[in-house]
Amino acid sequence: MPAYGRHPASQYLEIQNRSFLIDCGEATQMQLMRLQSNFHRINHIFISHLHGDHYLGLMGLLFTMHLQRRVNELHLYSQPGLDEIISTQLRYSRSALLFKVIFHPLNADAIEKIYEDDVLTVETIPLSHKIPCSGFLFREKVKPRRIDKEKLPQGLLLQQIASLKSGEDIRDDEGNILYRNEELTFSPRKSRTYAYCSDTAFDGSFVDQIKGVDLLYHEATFLEEDKAKATETKHSTAQQAATIAQQAEVCTLLLGHFSARYKDLLPFLEEAKKIFPNTKLALEGEEFSIQD
Ligand SMILES: [Zn+2]
Repeated sequence: MPAYGRHPASQYLEIQNRSFLIDCGEATQMQLMRLQSNFHRINHIFISHLHGDHYLGLMGLLFTMHLQRRVNELHLYSQPGLDEIISTQLRYSRSALLFKVIFHPLNADAIEKIYEDDVLTVETIPLSHKIPCSGFLFREKVKPRRIDKEKLPQGLLLQQIASLKSGEDIRDDEGNILYRNEELTFSPRKSRTYAYCSDTAFDGSFVDQIKGVDLLYHEATFLEEDKAKATETKHSTAQQAATIAQQAEVCTLLLGHFSARYKDLLPFLEEAKKIFPNTKLALEGEEFSIQD
């Protein structure tokens, strides 16, 4: 439930000029507006599961996009059923969206690559919740090598510069090496990874999949003192989330999805940090960057 200024789940993710939305709880569009995030740039929305706190803001967002005359296709990734929910609402409001919505049903039991473009891939993370639920792993592809402009000889063709960026040497027509790649380039920038683990019981089965990610978001709905409640509702405690982060040897852990029963969130941070020191809280409106 919304509580103490905290809203239901949603994250706005930018990777190399691409904008993605992950989950879309109630009031997501209000928060996107308040935080001045350009939601017209979002072409892909990933919904982890169909509990209301993860998708009830979607219809409002879609209608606003429609009223603001969006034309670009919108891709929706979700557990089966969301297409039916959306079309029922559209039918009873006798509306047709101005833009095309392309629905991609997820399989919550398997790791699937659901998105790929020139610079990144997204795959699902099978989670263990009361209803089918998937996390999402965003992985940048290997980046091009960086040209050392000071050493670059005059007169190279664009195609030769492109081959340098992809790691090749420059050769003459006979195939002899004119310039070695490492003389003219620096190593590529780091390829970054982000794992979003939505609602889940404590479950080590995806530790291998998220091994070494730069940033792990893991839900922490409860504190360890309410572990029984976590087990019953198939959620995790801060301590359990930190244990996953430790086992997966991630760089940074981000905790979120705090139950409305807690006003003060500091105990979440303290509990997790005992196991995994580099932990942060996903507070309302906060921004987190991964350096490349
Ligand atoms: Zn849930």
